[in-house]
Amino acid sequence: MPEGDTIHKIAAFLCVALRGQSLESVMLRGRDCPDLRSAEVLGVTSKGKHLFMELGGGRLLRVHLGLYGAWHRYPTGQPWKKPARQATLVLVIPGQSYVCFNAKEVEILKGQGFQARDLESRLGPDLTRESPEIDLLFRRARELVSPETQVTDMLLDQRIASGIGNVYKSEVLFLGRCGPRTCFADLSGETFAVLYRTAGHLLRSNLGGGPRITRRVADGRGILWVYGRAGLACFRCGATLVRERQGLNPRSTYWCPGCQAGEGWQPSGPPDLPAPDDPSIMPAD
Ligand SMILES: [Zn+2]
Repeated sequence: MPEGDTIHKIAAFLCVALRGQSLESVMLRGRDCPDLRSAEVLGVTSKGKHLFMELGGGRLLRVHLGLYGAWHRYPTGQPWKKPARQATLVLVIPGQSYVCFNAKEVEILKGQGFQARDLESRLGPDLTRESPEIDLLFRRARELVSPETQVTDMLLDQRIASGIGNVYKSEVLFLGRCGPRTCFADLSGETFAVLYRTAGHLLRSNLGGGPRITRRVADGRGILWVYGRAGLACFRCGATLVRERQGLNPRSTYWCPGCQAGEGWQPSGPPDLPAPDDPSIMPAD
């Protein structure tokens, strides 16, 4: 599932592969596409779950993969592994095609235009890049969400901070011992800080290769604490983990009724509390 760490890695890969290349053709499904033949790729970056490709001529290509999107690369003439009708975007350079299948959103913006600036201003700080300034994030949250907003929706709100998707949402709430139905109004400042610091640590610790890991305990029992483990025993307390669909746009949340019975992290909490800088849980970047 593409979250901020995945998009960061894709952007870095595409930047190395495409920077300085001239596009032979661009196909954008279902949209009129400006003539971008011969446009040079100037760079590829990401912010949260959005990928931005800067093109010569002042154009900016934006891609949001959503839940099901994926990028493939094919040498010219090699059959694709997915049907052509699922291709949302095709970028062709000499000898190679870069195909983005099933993207949620693809658009071409004017690089310095209103839409690009508006999007930039609406996205919160990218947690894959910077240690979150908690005060700033808290101010954004207070302005942007209602007191009744559940913490699951808060974490997925890319306007507060960008990069957290459904997997990290569940993992971060578990590590912060925060019940998924906790409302923003009931969230302590300490818990708010723990949730976003933990999200930043996890995202940045997963920017290398390999699978996404939130549980770095070398016992061979699992690399995620709760996500995808409904019905299995909690690694920490032994309670049976639960999967629930909840929130504004109901998405699955995996959680532990034993560890996450309350409003969240407390300074006087249990001794196995995951401090945000505890290297046994979240390695240094
Ligand atoms: Zn538990």
